[in-house]
Amino acid sequence: MTKLYIVSTPIGNMEDITLRALRVLKEVDLILCEDTRVTHKLLVKYNIDTKTSSYHKFTDPKKLDEFIDMLKEGKSLALVSDAGTPLISDPGDSLVSRAIEEGIDIEAIPGPCAVVTALTLSGFDLREFAFFGFLPKKTSELKAFFESKKTLELTWAFYESPNRLVDTLKIIDEIMPDREICVGRELTKLFEETPRGKARELVDYFSQKPVKGEIVVVVDKSTPLVKEITDDEILDCLKKNIDRGMSKKDAVKEVMKDLDLPKNRVYKIMLNA
Ligand code: SAM
Repeated sequence: MTKLYIVSTPIGNMEDITLRALRVLKEVDLILCEDTRVTHKLLVKYNIDTKTSSYHKFTDPKKLDEFIDMLKEGKSLALVSDAGTPLISDPGDSLVSRAIEEGIDIEAIPGPCAVVTALTLSGFDLREFAFFGFLPKKTSELKAFFESKKTLELTWAFYESPNRLVDTLKIIDEIMPDREICVGRELTKLFEETPRGKARELVDYFSQKPVKGEIVVVVDKSTPLVKEITDDEILDCLKKNIDRGMSKKDAVKEVMKDLDLPKNRVYKIMLNA
């Protein structure tokens, strides 16, 4: 059946490709590649001789129409990027949204993705997380970006280039000096490493020699400041409960439960009221 497949490919280690991805790449009529030369290396390794065509952010919209027409005529196409999951900081969104508009079936063949790989290695809480792709290049915009994210109470990640890493970490150190960070460098490759620490420690680590390779930065969530509740605030709550008709005993119980406070403290405040 005619379909547009979104196929994830390795982010470094050529063995990181699923059996389904290999089968689909063999079976489709055409593979749309970010850079055909990069994808050819993968196709040669796995003896796949499917035709390829380039599809990237500068692709003429007329070419996009041609691909959509092929799908409508009953052909199957696979979209790949140079590495990882297409559309994740990579081209493909206009093709996929057009396919959806035209009612063409789409199917994702999941696999490697640098941000997911880095997140899973970070050791941070991943019940919730955010990803911001590549950050602004201008220092003022980068600072504003970090200011806007510094109170995020969830783990977050972004892609960074090796030659900007140290400067970016210095800005993080200015804005969030106590935050734990994990840098995923050259993931799945020979020189993979995931140093962790505060931004200052990572600046020292990465300043020893020129930084090379591909990088994901993962930032731990911010821990909200716990505001200490005062005796006056507790007394206010007790009075409100009594005004609502509660006995002193029940008012104490309610406040203990609502504010998660020890019994002795609430009783003492009630006795001194
Ligand atoms: N679509 C890809 C994915 O699924 O991860 C990302 C494409 S984006 C253009 C390329 C960026 O991803 C690199 O600049 C780097 O920040 C990150 N990246 C890709 N491969 C990586 C790797 N092996 N280790 C660390 N980061 C990687």
